[in-house]
Amino acid sequence: MIDAITPDFLRNLPAGTRTPCHERSDIFVHPVRRTPYQSAVTEAKALCAQCPIRAACVEHAIRHGETDGIWGGLTPAERRAHRRPKCGTDAGWRSHFLRGESCLICREAHEDRLRKQRLKQLDRAHARGGSLAGYRLELLLGLPTCVRCRAVRKAYYADRPSSGKWYRRAA
Ligand code: SF4
Ligand SMILES: [Zn+2]
Ligand SMILES: [Zn+2]
Repeated sequence: MIDAITPDFLRNLPAGTRTPCHERSDIFVHPVRRTPYQSAVTEAKALCAQCPIRAACVEHAIRHGETDGIWGGLTPAERRAHRRPKCGTDAGWRSHFLRGESCLICREAHEDRLRKQRLKQLDRAHARGGSLAGYRLELLLGLPTCVRCRAVRKAYYADRPSSGKWYRRAA
């Protein structure tokens, strides 16, 4: 971390508290310029491991996109790997999905995008005079099925033998 700038998480420490990196900016700032690099990283990480505010330090560095130095025991490359896409975006939803996480904001945004996409597909189906796909989209969207899509569907199944499935029997 950088001594010249006092980040929020360092401002309200109890009086007299010293973080292990205090006055050790020599190993925390731009370790890549030091020789040997790896020994500076190892030393900085060892100090961070004993730090009582390590979690706040990592959170600050990731949230503010700090690009240099060791923060909370993480190198710039390690912090990049921790950075998560914003909630509400498609990337955010995929990131939760891959991790098996549940996020209401991302789920609602995803469902909203899906609904808009289906509405566009339905518009295209109607522009072609209705279709079987349009009929299915109407059901998926919870909309009443329209005369044109129903007619296409009816014609499609009219001369097919019944499979015994409920959705084929229904006219
Ligand atoms: S976690 Fe490391 S860089 Fe952050 S305040 Fe503590 S010792 Fe300093
Ligand atoms: Zn999310
Ligand atoms: Zn329709």
